[in-house]
Amino acid sequence: HAKAMGRGCYAFFDVELDQRNHRLMQIKHGLRQALARDEMHLVYQPEINLQTGQVFGFEVLMRWHSDELGWVSPAEFIPVAEESDSIADLTRWMLIKACRELLPRLETGMQMAVNISPRQFGGDRWLALIRQCIDEEGLDPTRLCIEITEGALIRDMDQAVVQLSELRKLGVSVAIDDFGTGYSSLSYLKRLPIDYLKIDRTFVADIEQDQDDQAIIRAIINLADSLGISVIAEGVESEAQLDFLKSLDCDIAQGYFFAHPQAIDKIKC
Ligand code: C2E
Ligand code: MG
Ligand code: MG
Ligand code: MG
Repeated sequence: HAKAMGRGCYAFFDVELDQRNHRLMQIKHGLRQALARDEMHLVYQPEINLQTGQVFGFEVLMRWHSDELGWVSPAEFIPVAEESDSIADLTRWMLIKACRELLPRLETGMQMAVNISPRQFGGDRWLALIRQCIDEEGLDPTRLCIEITEGALIRDMDQAVVQLSELRKLGVSVAIDDFGTGYSSLSYLKRLPIDYLKIDRTFVADIEQDQDDQAIIRAIINLADSLGISVIAEGVESEAQLDFLKSLDCDIAQGYFFAHPQAIDKIKC
C-alpha cells in the first residue's frame, strides 16, 4: 500500500519538477536576450524620512517583460540570473541606467539605493562598476546606497570587511536588506561598516496585531540606535502601520502606503 502511494507521489512530483525545470530553463534562456531585446526596465520606489515627511531616496527595482513569458518577477528571475552569469550584465545595465535616468531628477541630499546580489558580492566586478559610474556617469558616491542581504556578509566575513570598507572609503553607504530573515548572527553588525537596516516586510505586515512582531521591530530599532545605524521599514501598506513605526521612532519607511515602485516619468521627488 505505502509503496503504491509512494510511487504515485513520485509520479506527481516528477511532473511538477519537470514543469518547474522547464520554466527555469525558459527564464535562463530568456535572460540571455532580455537586454538586447530591450525587455528590461527600471522602477523606483520612494523611501520616506518619517521625521520630515520628505523623500529620503529611491530604491531601484528591476522589471522584466519577456516576449515569451510575459511579466516575470525579479523574485523569480534574479535567483536564476545569479545561477547563470546574467547577473553581472543585469547589474551593470541597472546601475548605468539608474545613473542616467534617476540621478538628474533627485533633489539635493536624496539617495539612490540599488540591490546587489549575494552571489556577486564575493567578486570585485561590481566595485569596478561603481567606480566606472563615478568616473563616467557623474555618480556622486555619497548619493549611492548598496543593499545586500545578511547571507552575503556572513558567508565570508573577512571578504565583507574588505568590500564594505572599500565602499565606505568611496563614500557609498550600505544597507542590510530583509533584515531579520537571514542568519542574524548579530556580531557582524559590530564588525562591518553598515549605515542602514531594512526591516523585512514580513515583520511589518502584522505589526498591529502581532505582539511578537512588535517586539522584534522594537528590538531592531533599539539595537540599531545603539550602534548608530538608521532603520528603514519596508512594506508599509497602512496608516496604522505607519503610526506604529513612528511611535517607535523608526527613521525611514517604504511601501505601498506611500507609493508603489513606478517608472521614472511617474515618480514624485
Ligand atoms: P527587496 O530588495 O526586498 O525589494 C522590496 C520588494 O518589496 C520589491 O519587490 C517591492 O516592489 C516590494 N514592496 C515594496 N513595498 C511593498 C509593500 O508595501 N507591500 C508589499 N507586499 N511589497 C512591497 P520586487 O520589486 O518584486 O523585488 C523583489 C526582490 O527582487 C527585491 O527584494 C530584490 O531582492 C530583488 N531585486 C529587484 N530588483 C533587483 C536588482 O536590480 N538587482 C538585484 N540584485 N535584485 C533585485
Ligand atoms: Mg532591496
Ligand atoms: Mg528589502
Ligand atoms: Mg524584502
